[in-house]
Amino acid sequence: MLEKTAEALRRRGFEAEVAATAEEALSLVMEEVAAAESVGWGGSETLKEIGVREAVASSGAKVAERHCDADLFLLSANALTADGRIVNIDGRGNRVAASIGGPRRVVYVIGRNKIVEGGIDAAVERIRREACPPNCRRLGKRTPCAETGKCADCDSPDRICKVTAIFDRRPTGISAKVVLVDGKYGY
Ligand code: SF4
Repeated sequence: MLEKTAEALRRRGFEAEVAATAEEALSLVMEEVAAAESVGWGGSETLKEIGVREAVASSGAKVAERHCDADLFLLSANALTADGRIVNIDGRGNRVAASIGGPRRVVYVIGRNKIVEGGIDAAVERIRREACPPNCRRLGKRTPCAETGKCADCDSPDRICKVTAIFDRRPTGISAKVVLVDGKYGY
């Protein structure tokens, strides 16, 4: 399944590699960090879980002050369709913005658990079901999903679902790689 999705991503203009373990994924990411002038990352439990933050800190790599100024921008995805489309939902849009323009290179690290069959609708449904409730709780947001675990398509001022980005293809002008990790990482 991961190889099939990796092949679909390549057809859509992304580089794609499959990592069997978190260690392998971290090693691929750190090769990218070593080749970059500066690095930045979007909020991501996946990056935390595979140890990217500690590894970047101990590598001595220069950390960019703003996402869009980074030479290399690291992030995960909230969902990835099995046919290779990346879907991310942001509250501010700053993570999504840096994955579209600014950095020279963008590298996604995505666990197997983020892959959905059923296209964009299934991806958005996954995000609202699996990603938003724990993210709202983690961030202390007062939203219905934080309380009940279910999306109510809320009007809360704390709503984190404000910008939905669907990547049908790699954006023009950015070099981008997806590292697919064979395991459950992030949410
Ligand atoms: S729309 Fe509101 S309730 Fe639904 S997932 Fe987003 S923040 Fe939670």
